Amino acid sequence: MENKDTKKVKVQVKGLVKSFGDLEVLKGMDLEVADGEVVCLIGPSGSGKSTFLRCLNRLETITGGEVVVDGFDITDKGTDINKVRENIGMVFQHFNLFPHKTVLENITMAPVQLKKMTLEEAKTVGMDLLRDVGLEEKASVYPAQLSGGQKQRVAIARALAMHPDIMLFDEPTSALDPEMVGEVLNVMKQLAKNGMTMVVVTHEMGFAREVADRIIFMDAGYIVEQGEPHELLSNPKEQRTINFLNQVL
Ligand code: ADP
Ligand code: MG
Repeated sequence: MENKDTKKVKVQVKGLVKSFGDLEVLKGMDLEVADGEVVCLIGPSGSGKSTFLRCLNRLETITGGEVVVDGFDITDKGTDINKVRENIGMVFQHFNLFPHKTVLENITMAPVQLKKMTLEEAKTVGMDLLRDVGLEEKASVYPAQLSGGQKQRVAIARALAMHPDIMLFDEPTSALDPEMVGEVLNVMKQLAKNGMTMVVVTHEMGFAREVADRIIFMDAGYIVEQGEPHELLSNPKEQRTINFLNQVL
């Protein structure tokens, strides 16, 4: 059920708990993301960042608490999760492009299969997106012929082809050679500028400082501290945040 009242709040998480067996990975997280907001999630490896993102589109079953995304209560069994997922784009560290499909086919597949568009429409949208990410001339090649940075830009275009309301990024540049990080971050910057609501797990502090409206530092399944980038990065209050930033800055 769509709830118009929460339209301006794109993500609302209350008391989110996630356990794997006896291991409690998320220990009660609260978070609100506003329409058009860019939130960067930072924290040590194993702190639960990926698990948190995956809970937002129910790639993980949620142990406790409430998650409302795009006005849909995704913890409610009656919610059609596939419908919700159509509005949430996700980009992972590894691109997961289909190797036997061309770049353009990778992009047109979901919108056509899910009957959001005709093939012709999807191709037009796909070419526009490829132009946006600077890869128009690669439409008919196969993923193996692309560099890592190009693959990740295609993965972003593919996610955008569904016209999502929210984009989730899980360390989208961590698997890339250093010289390719910038081209992917630039695409993400442009998206942010155009008003996309984004939750980005990243170790790219320069990107977080420049693009995020808010940085959240998470450790051991909790949000330890959050704030406006300059404030959080220059003047962290909690010892755990200070220790982490000393390692990464
Ligand atoms: P991060 O992304 O911050 O590095 P993760 O969310 O990947 O952290 O992992 C948080 C914790 O949850 C880790 O201890 C990890 O081993 C555990 N974990 C993640 N996924 C699973 C799973 N499917 N089964 C069991 N444990 C998991
Ligand atoms: Mg992770």
